[in-house]
Amino acid sequence: MYGQVDAEVVGQLEAIVGKAYVLTGRERMEPYSHDETAGLSAWPEVVVKVANREQVVAIMKLANERRVPVTPRAGGMGLSGGAVPIYGGIVLSVERMNRILEIDHENLMAVVEPGVITGELHRAVEAEGLFYPPDPASQDSCCLGGNVAEGAGGPRAVKYGTTKDYVTGLEIVLPTGEVVELGGKLVKDEAGYDLVHLVVGSEGTLGVVTKIILRLLPLPKARIDLLVPYDNFQSAAETVSAIIAECIIPTTIEFMERDTVKACERLMGKEVPFSAAAAQLLIQLTGQRQEEVEADMDRVGDLCLDHGALDVLVAQDSATRDRLWAARRLIIEALKNESPVHHMEDLSVPRAKIPELLGAIHALSARLGLRALCFGHAGDGNVHVNLMKDNLPDQEWEEKMRAAQRELYALATSLGGVITGEHGIGATRKGFLAQTIGEKQVELMRGIKRVFDPNGILNPGKIFDLPAQ
Ligand SMILES: Cc1cc2nc3c(=O)[nH]c(=O)nc-3n(C[C@H](O)[C@H](O)[C@H](O)COP(=O)(O)OP(=O)(O)OC[C@H]3O[C@@H](n4cnc5c(N)ncnc54)[C@H](O)[C@@H]3O)c2cc1C
Repeated sequence: MYGQVDAEVVGQLEAIVGKAYVLTGRERMEPYSHDETAGLSAWPEVVVKVANREQVVAIMKLANERRVPVTPRAGGMGLSGGAVPIYGGIVLSVERMNRILEIDHENLMAVVEPGVITGELHRAVEAEGLFYPPDPASQDSCCLGGNVAEGAGGPRAVKYGTTKDYVTGLEIVLPTGEVVELGGKLVKDEAGYDLVHLVVGSEGTLGVVTKIILRLLPLPKARIDLLVPYDNFQSAAETVSAIIAECIIPTTIEFMERDTVKACERLMGKEVPFSAAAAQLLIQLTGQRQEEVEADMDRVGDLCLDHGALDVLVAQDSATRDRLWAARRLIIEALKNESPVHHMEDLSVPRAKIPELLGAIHALSARLGLRALCFGHAGDGNVHVNLMKDNLPDQEWEEKMRAAQRELYALATSLGGVITGEHGIGATRKGFLAQTIGEKQVELMRGIKRVFDPNGILNPGKIFDLPAQ
């Protein structure tokens, strides 16, 4: 049973952050009652916009004493309800903690606050000849704090990995209000359990991240993008395995099916290249030397054609590149435009299993009579399956969507995969975690949660429910 946010608590919060940064009215709190997860919302009792670590410490101490739930929030772009305050309480927004504190050339590291917009860090380091690879497609709205909490991926994960591969240090405020500094500007760190990477991907349930140390790379100097159409999805999926088997690691291998591309075309109101093709791959190759990237392009182009590609469109300048990427960048908006009620899954399987996964999804969609639009990070084995309500009556939609969800999870697990590759368990998938990783692992996770958060006040109801103590 949680404590309530009464007038006294509001007064104490105002004393901590200043009256202007405590929101209580419905209209001002509305943006904080949801994230980008379709169909999920819950009202906070109060929203607090913090400016620094000391304020987070004071709020966590107050909340822990009063047993008030606290939901951390950064950009609010999450797709599993992580920032939605399902038990009310305090939404703690880090949006004002938005400074890039340091770009350290000697160590190739950046030190940032959690409210820095991801795309702003990209631009800042690129202006200095450096590179921060993780690039969730929401990069101009999401923040690094949210990326750390979700272990966010993105199109460049094929070659460069995800957020977890770049975090070397964190400052976090524990639910009890204590501050701990984990890791540092370190390439190597074998001092005890790897708490840095326990917190990365913990979905705001173990601590509030107040500072982040990120590894940087040299900015690649050469880049070529390819758009490759196919007349069937299997050939497109098989090409992905063929490229990887050749030990060519593109920066990006994105996959879109015709229905998804057509939805983007309808939203844009103009024609998209190869939109009649059954499937498309969008491949990006990068490197330090133009000749090397061109050699990879020739080999990848041949592999695509050998595996049934209908054409290979090459972009070496930014205008053509923008044309190739236009549809991919708009997919999530296009899905909303297509059917405001829809449900997105984020399955992750070994990449060689993608053809099997897509075949089974199509069979499931046909059997249930439920439109499923697929796209995703094919080079990572990560497929986003979008189940569309369209004109289905509410009850039929609910039944079919739930049946499809269960089958999709069983399918991903049977192929050696998991039920989410990057969007997290959050509030929307928590009932299914044990099914995919087993009860023992969930029990270990619950034990870890209790050590960090003995009163269960930090982002309760996410990943799993804790039994009442
Ligand atoms: C159009 C679109 C495209 C997307 N593309 C991708 C993609 O390519 N790859 C991908 O991985 N995801 C993608 N996402 C999902 C989303 O952008 C990511 O999950 C992102 O990391 C969320 O960051 P945020 O700042 O918006 O976090 P929020 O939504 O605010 O929060 C996400 C989680 O982080 C926690 N959190 C936030 N700040 C802190 C903090 N300081 N300390 C502790 N916990 C905190 C919250 O409690 C919550 O659990 C996409 C979303 C949209 C809408």
